Amino acid sequence: MNTSEIKRVAVVSFEFEGNSFSPKVCGRPEFGLYAEGEAIWDLIDGNPLAISGGVDALKADGGIKLIPILLAHGGSGGTVEPHFYRETVDAILKGIREQGPFDGLYLALHGAMISPGVTDGEGQLLEAIRSVVGSMPIIACSLDLHANVTPKMVQAANILVGYENYPHDDVYTTGQRAGDLLVRTLRGTLSPVMRMVRLDMLVPVPGGSTLGNAPLAKLKAFARGCENDGVVSTSYFTCQPWLDDDAAGNVALAIAHDSEALAERTARVIADKLWALRDEFVLPLLPVQDAIEKAIQAHVKPAVLADTGDSVGAGSTGDSAYVLAALLTHASDIKCAVSMVDPDAVAKAIESGVGTEVELALGFSADPRHGAPLKLRAKVCNVHNGKFTYAAGPAAGVQGDMGPTVVLGIQGIRILVASKGTYEYADEQFRAVGINPDDFAIVVLKNGMNFRNLLKDGSSWYLVDSAGSSSANLATLRWQHRPSPFWPRDIEVKSLSQP
Ligand SMILES: [Zn+2]
Repeated sequence: MNTSEIKRVAVVSFEFEGNSFSPKVCGRPEFGLYAEGEAIWDLIDGNPLAISGGVDALKADGGIKLIPILLAHGGSGGTVEPHFYRETVDAILKGIREQGPFDGLYLALHGAMISPGVTDGEGQLLEAIRSVVGSMPIIACSLDLHANVTPKMVQAANILVGYENYPHDDVYTTGQRAGDLLVRTLRGTLSPVMRMVRLDMLVPVPGGSTLGNAPLAKLKAFARGCENDGVVSTSYFTCQPWLDDDAAGNVALAIAHDSEALAERTARVIADKLWALRDEFVLPLLPVQDAIEKAIQAHVKPAVLADTGDSVGAGSTGDSAYVLAALLTHASDIKCAVSMVDPDAVAKAIESGVGTEVELALGFSADPRHGAPLKLRAKVCNVHNGKFTYAAGPAAGVQGDMGPTVVLGIQGIRILVASKGTYEYADEQFRAVGINPDDFAIVVLKNGMNFRNLLKDGSSWYLVDSAGSSSANLATLRWQHRPSPFWPRDIEVKSLSQP
């Protein structure tokens, strides 16, 4: 405890992960967690979010007065609705202006926020905050590993710390690390100097795991090995790859105590290591029929198919019926579980009633660019309010809301149809509606990474080469604003076919 001098620290969180290829526009209704002032504490109490870790680290000092300003947590989507973006930034600046002065500010951010006309949401926010508070207060931020870290962010902030792990099971400790560095700086034992090195490189998400001996696990070990009394923090940001922005890229970042040269040198060696590992990040994608045939042969059940192109957690709409159509053709007699977003189909099924059969046109309702609705006749097995709670991950403890939700059945296939897309961490949504993945031979998860949270020892998993706003096949996307060459645009991401 150090109560020799009370320090005043503002607390802010504005988190959103954008996707340039997604049509999803997210405003206040999509920001499921929102509070201003003291009400923030009720939202984060008991939930191991990044902001909670930062706040706990600051509280541990014993001599810091926390001033909660604003919390807005929007998950993933395409863009932040411009009016809401401006309104939120204005509310943050107003709170800071009215409740300052501060010795420090802690911000829990994602780092890849975009809004029409805004390609560097966090850079603009931090720059605006700096212009309000002046050069003296210390600004510390925790960020997602997929942040698009920009020079503007590095210039405006003193401390940036990224998640270490993917899947993201360390958001709380990342907040703590940022909070700890802020405390040390406020107490005068640390003089942070930060440097970044950016690469013309975007890691395809399925290859960007830190599990086992994956390339990013190697980079994590290398970066941690660079830390010592002089280098107090290292981060690697593999960036949200679906940002069609010439400035987006992978970044290595180091914070050194009172030494520009040391920070610069360390960021450079981590960037060099990341670049050297690049070919290891490319994993093979399978045509859907091949993936289904392999899953049918798998010994450990369930086998998991990752519908990489339609990941709600990566900004997609979650309404692709591409994998479902293939299951109906090739595996309808096998027990399969799959999810889908289609509010109109949900309404029709609810109107028809549990136990009835209903004819529907299912899927591709929000994003019709990648396929046509699937006409089918299904049994309405279950109706649910769509509420569930995340057991772990970046939204641990937070209630998710799929809106009105139904389970449809066609032979062995069970289809969870939600009214709203939600971030998938493991199998919370399935279990909420009574689908236990262990009872199925094949489970389809709509993400390129978090399906790994569902795997058991010996589980088989296959990455489906599916089209969508979050296609893992980066070379196939219609890039418009990245004129310069970048890896892996100019190589073929290994794929046997593209739907
Ligand atoms: Zn992430």
